[in-house]
Amino acid sequence: MSTPLQLRQRQIHLDFHTAGMADNIGSDFDPNEFAQTLADAGVDSITCFARCHHGYLYYPSKLMPHRIHPNLKRPNLLGEQIEACHRLGIRVPIYITVQWDQMLAEEHPQWRVVDQTGKLDGTPPYEAGFYRRLCLNTPYVDFLKAHVKEVIEMLPTDGIFWDIVTPMDCSCSKCKTDMVAKGMDPANTQDRVAFGKEVEAHFMRDMTKYIRTLHKDCTIFYNAGHIGPRHRDLQDALTHFELESLPSGGWGYMHFPLTARYARTLDLPFLGMTGKFHTAWGDFHSYKNQAALEFECFQSVALGGGCSIGDQLPPNGKICKTTYQLIGAVYNQIKAIEPWCTQAKPITQIGVITPEVFTQDSGHTALPKSAQGAVRILQELDHQYDIIDLQANFADYQLIIVPDEIIVTDELSKQIESYVAGGGKILALHKAGANLPCLGITYEGDSAYCPNFVLPRDQFAGLPNAEHVVYEQGSQVTANPSVQVLADTIGSIFNRTWDHYCSHRHSPSSGEVLGPAIVKNGNTIYMAHPHMTQYQLNAPNWCKKLVGAAIDQLLDKPQLKTDGPTHLFTAVNEQADKNRFVLHVLNYIPQLKSEEVEIVEDIIPLHDLSITLNLSRKVTKATLVPENKEVAITDTDSGQVIKLDKLGNKQVIELAY
Ligand SMILES: [Zn+2]
Repeated sequence: MSTPLQLRQRQIHLDFHTAGMADNIGSDFDPNEFAQTLADAGVDSITCFARCHHGYLYYPSKLMPHRIHPNLKRPNLLGEQIEACHRLGIRVPIYITVQWDQMLAEEHPQWRVVDQTGKLDGTPPYEAGFYRRLCLNTPYVDFLKAHVKEVIEMLPTDGIFWDIVTPMDCSCSKCKTDMVAKGMDPANTQDRVAFGKEVEAHFMRDMTKYIRTLHKDCTIFYNAGHIGPRHRDLQDALTHFELESLPSGGWGYMHFPLTARYARTLDLPFLGMTGKFHTAWGDFHSYKNQAALEFECFQSVALGGGCSIGDQLPPNGKICKTTYQLIGAVYNQIKAIEPWCTQAKPITQIGVITPEVFTQDSGHTALPKSAQGAVRILQELDHQYDIIDLQANFADYQLIIVPDEIIVTDELSKQIESYVAGGGKILALHKAGANLPCLGITYEGDSAYCPNFVLPRDQFAGLPNAEHVVYEQGSQVTANPSVQVLADTIGSIFNRTWDHYCSHRHSPSSGEVLGPAIVKNGNTIYMAHPHMTQYQLNAPNWCKKLVGAAIDQLLDKPQLKTDGPTHLFTAVNEQADKNRFVLHVLNYIPQLKSEEVEIVEDIIPLHDLSITLNLSRKVTKATLVPENKEVAITDTDSGQVIKLDKLGNKQVIELAY
């Protein structure tokens, strides 16, 4: 790979899906006002539209003039947007829809994805919406090539953003024929899904190769709404990742940190993409709370990425001043801390293997609960960690966590055993205990009782000598004689059924020890219950404490610890060329204060916050930036301690060594 691409950090994704019946398209567009409003808001790149989900074009196409929006009043709206932005140094990647195009779905039903019942995939004919996917194993690909060729030849092209490029489960006649020719069985769902992934990968590689014959260095990205382990092998087709993740739009607040912590272990730079909308895309005349937009953008830069904020230009083309005052209030703060964010490498101790490696990426709506629970627990405990796949270099981490539902294959087992033999530490939970000799247990399957109660020994995790329920199904194991049992599993008097039940919920403890709940064997700890999943479901404090205590027993010293509240978000990066670490501390509280979305609104300042550091190099000077105010560092037995008198919304701290 050549020199890593330095992405612009303050981007806008400017949706412009505009219905054919809408009038006066672009009539109020003023190129100077457009570009100046963006520049004033600190925007350095904006993705603008060549072709939208309705199927319309916003440039004077010679190739397909009948697709130009019928009411477009500025014949070269896209060209004017690009020219005005370029004058002010703002980059303009070009948006092209792929699998959703309403006009083409009507014109070429034979190009549409067919589901396994023989029905055309997507929005039924009498419902609003253009969510009718086109198959990438059809002549539609030739259409897209001709289209992108014209775009690149007619317009200065900084990049191409291909939207909606997702693996298909398609039973169209072309897909069926091609699968049979490859010896695959179209009637078998797994075969169809595997073939759909092959088609998607082929499309991306082939299209990128084609674009490179037309333009040698524009950025190229294919969006599927989620970045997961399948993208490791697709990196040759992309120049970077854009992590679409609108917390209020169905992604939630756990998707982004989970995805970013994985994406940053790959080879390409990334942007975190949220939206300015109160809910999701297409939410005209709505404005996210500034605190929420700050949290989402600051989190992205803290995790080593850039920012992209989604907006939608109204049909008349007039940029919304209110929206860009909001965006400017955030982006101008990002701009001020950018010197501490560029080329910064995350500093981590822990790698969490994502179950997505085994579940084959079902997109952002089906994220593994255990991985989300792990993100919550580790974040609340201030740990510095990545989400990893099996190609990650395990030796980069002091501790690897293998969550709840992972069934360890023989190959992974060998990989883990060799990592442990080399001094690595393992925390394995629930089913992950079935195939790892290093844990010192014999795995016997599901516990006969559900729920189980965990009874800590010797006040492990600071918990009292009492049963603590774990509602989700746990495992039954026996411990080898040499291992240390830290907690026991207690059963209930009976499982709740029609003829055996007690009170409103599960039955109480029988007092009978079924086996160990937590065991330590040298460099490993095994927990027989799915605490990560349980924490994601209803967050029992004792699950977090048990996991936290297990981690503390395994790590030499945590890289960072605060005495702040659990919502505090911390991240440490290193700018080795500048001889410094950079610490980000964010003070935002997502609250479920409506039925539909989590809201971030109030900033409650924190006082006398203490941060203890154990980094690979001794910090010699701590400075609050961009304020340029030095804070004292005290060396103690537990690490180097810095104190913040007051923390408002966020603080970035330069830690020179
Ligand atoms: Zn097909």
